[in-house]
Amino acid sequence: MDLKTLRETFFPEKLTCSLCRREIFGDSPFCKDCLDALPRNDGAICDHCGRKTSARVSYCDSCREKNLSFDVARSPFLYEPPVSYALQKLKYDNAKYFARDFAPELVRTYLAEFWTCDAVVFTPMTGKREKKRGYNQAKLLAEAFSERTGIPLQTDVLYKKRETESQVGMTQKERFINLSGSFGVRHSREIAGKNVLLVDDVLTTGATAECCAAALRRAGAERVCVLTVASVPDRSARTLRESGDPAEDPRGEATVS
Ligand SMILES: [Zn+2]
Ligand SMILES: [Zn+2]
Repeated sequence: MDLKTLRETFFPEKLTCSLCRREIFGDSPFCKDCLDALPRNDGAICDHCGRKTSARVSYCDSCREKNLSFDVARSPFLYEPPVSYALQKLKYDNAKYFARDFAPELVRTYLAEFWTCDAVVFTPMTGKREKKRGYNQAKLLAEAFSERTGIPLQTDVLYKKRETESQVGMTQKERFINLSGSFGVRHSREIAGKNVLLVDDVLTTGATAECCAAALRRAGAERVCVLTVASVPDRSARTLRESGDPAEDPRGEATVS
């Protein structure tokens, strides 16, 4: 038996690193170099939104007096390369495997925070948009998370009522206006009185999470926790290289090249 056959026998699903395509052994989706290079969000953070800050604060500048519909948000990674690269591939380039690759990190963060959620939801896209793309990356992440934790996934509760403008280049305030009232809840009995976990790929300004959480609250959710793979650091913690408007998210769906 040659080495390749041997490896395929023991590690049938994963032979190369998802990030650099180098061959790997073991059950991590990433090689050791890439694992070491992942920008972990393990320094000072804002207690509320979980983004990196220059010093631990209850509310950072990004969420003071805003983003208050959700109770707490956390993300294992910073929205910086190579995680930002992977999330863009997941979102725009059909690289669905990154949802499975990042799910264990979401689970780890969830457990470390001792959250006890009863239901998992995800940031929805309009049916038209999802059909065009073929999938919703937030749903893929939520599915993978739910499979690993056994917390039931509610696929048909939170929905997007209408298409919204691309959010790229918008200020936080403009994003709130753009998204305001664009999310709704069906079958509210599924979440009424429950602790709900909202899963998404990235927290940028927090406007999307806020608007989803507001809809969940209106429908009776007791508590809304937000879990994203990555978050954009608060202004106080951005380096020169990162300053400027980071590659943007929420479901605006502008083409990123
Ligand atoms: Zn690698
Ligand atoms: Zn904050």
